[in-house]
Formats: sequence, structure tokens, C-alpha cells
Amino acid sequence: MLADLHIHTTASDGRLSPLEIVNEATRNRLSYIAITDHDTVEGVLALQNTYLPDLTMIPGIELNTDLPDYEVHILGYNIDIYNSQLTYELTKITEDRFTRAKKIVEKLKALGYHVEYSRILEIAGGTKAVGRPHIAKALLEKNYFTTMDEVFDVLLEKNGPAYVPHYKLTPKEAIKLVKMAGGIPVIAHPGLIGNIEIVLHLIQNGAQGMEVYHPKHSDIQTELYVSLANQYKLLITGGSDYHAIPGRFPDRLGQFTIPASLAEKLNQRSGIKR
Ligand code: AMP
Ligand code: FE
Ligand code: FE
Ligand code: ZN
Repeated sequence: MLADLHIHTTASDGRLSPLEIVNEATRNRLSYIAITDHDTVEGVLALQNTYLPDLTMIPGIELNTDLPDYEVHILGYNIDIYNSQLTYELTKITEDRFTRAKKIVEKLKALGYHVEYSRILEIAGGTKAVGRPHIAKALLEKNYFTTMDEVFDVLLEKNGPAYVPHYKLTPKEAIKLVKMAGGIPVIAHPGLIGNIEIVLHLIQNGAQGMEVYHPKHSDIQTELYVSLANQYKLLITGGSDYHAIPGRFPDRLGQFTIPASLAEKLNQRSGIKR
């Protein structure tokens, strides 16, 4: 029995709709999935009335948070997607994502790259969490670059020439918010933070789990985070971070999985019977 606890949909920057994700997960015989879109629960919401006989869906989110020199993502599992404080914060964050996209368009124009804000919204396709990947796609369409990585490297990475931050919580606030919404806060891809001090800071501030298994982690990183999770008695999670973007691993669901027992442990800790 297999699980994938980190999946994006069209509700944020993934390319498959929530329903397409569920169908692909079923086809590839996953037992547990979690939809963890950036800063929105619209994807989870879209599946509330969908009958899923062979699949357990854990409601999730990936909150993009900020520290001065680091991008820190906090996953939240088994959250109450209707929680009022959560809804309030997500609205604030996602509204500012639109303002920020406009500012990035202006910065790009000053740098000689012409993309229309309206085209970015079309590409974003109704998501509430418009993000840099949508802007990158607009730049690719105009043949300014050939790969997403290149767009990020040259223009959009944190503190890059066209980078504009959007309103974000600190990791500490995000951890608190997830708990307030009844969920389990988990440190997303700690290996991508690239600083063990920050990871320890997140543990000290109430993170209850660690995403040990992630496609971008080396074997050495995975081993390190397994031992850290055990040392601090954290839940161990993992997932593919699937966006269904061509050329970005994995190409399909089921290529990167974790044992379903880890998802079961997460559900037990949440006190939610499923
Ligand atoms: P944003 O939410 O607008 O800050 O954009 C962050 C998202 O951009 C991340 O969650 C990734 O999915 C995506 N991203 C970051 N770096 C890259 C990259 N080098 N290539 C493609 N996508 C990236
Ligand atoms: Fe993403
Ligand atoms: Fe992430
Ligand atoms: Zn992700």
C-alpha cells in the first residue's frame, strides 16, 4: 500500500485538476494522497463531494512562508479547510499574490521582458494562488527562455532582478495557524531549505512532522532527516511534489511514493477517524 502526501493541482501551480489527480492516483493504485496546494485549499474543497472508494484523501496545504534569506514551506495535514482564521489568512495571502504578479509584470517590463498581466491570469486559469510558475510560463510562451529553471535562475528566484515578495506568514505563524485549524504542521522538503539551524528553529517552534522523503533529497539528506525526525519524535512524511509539469520529475503519480503506514500514522496522530 502506497501513499503520496505532496501533490499540487490547478488550484495552485499544478497542471492537473483535483479530479484528474484523483483519477491518476487511483489508476496508479495509491491508497493515500494529500493535495497540498500553495496557500489555498480550493483543490481539497473541489473534492469534498466526490466519492473515493479506494482512496483516502488527507486534506492538506503548503504554506509558503518567509525568513530573510530562506524560503520555508510548511505543510499542514488534516486541517479543517473551513476554519475561519485559516480562511482569513489565506484570503489575505492570495489577494496579495495578484498585486504581486502585477508588480512583477512592471519589473519585467523595465528589464525589457514584455508579458501581459491578463495573459498570466489566463495561464493561471482561475487559481487563487497565482505564482511565479504562471509568470514563467508566460515568459516561455514569448520565447524569452527555453526552460522554467532558466527563468527562475535569471529573473524570478528569491531576490532575483524581477522578484517581488508577496504577503506571507513567518514559519512560526504558519505552524500556529495549521494547529489552530486542527492540523499537523510538517516541515516541507527540509533539504531544500539547506540550513539545519533553520530546520531546528522550526522544530523548536512547534513543527510536528518532517517531510523526509522528497524527490529533490539526496540519500544522505534523507538519512539525516530520518534520524533528526526520530531524535525529535516527529512524524515522518513524504511525497512527490507532483506538478504535472513536463520535464519536471515525476512525470506521473506513483513514481515517487512512501509506505501507506506513514500516512496512517499521520491520521492516527490527528485523531481523525477515516
Ligand atoms: P511562488 O509561490 O509564486 O513564490 O512560486 C514558488 C513556486 O515556484 C514553487 O512552489 C515551485 O513550484 C516553483 N519553482 C520554484 N523554483 C522553480 C524552478 N527553478 N523551476 C520551476 N519551478 C520553480
Ligand atoms: Fe509549486
Ligand atoms: Fe514546496
Ligand atoms: Zn510543493
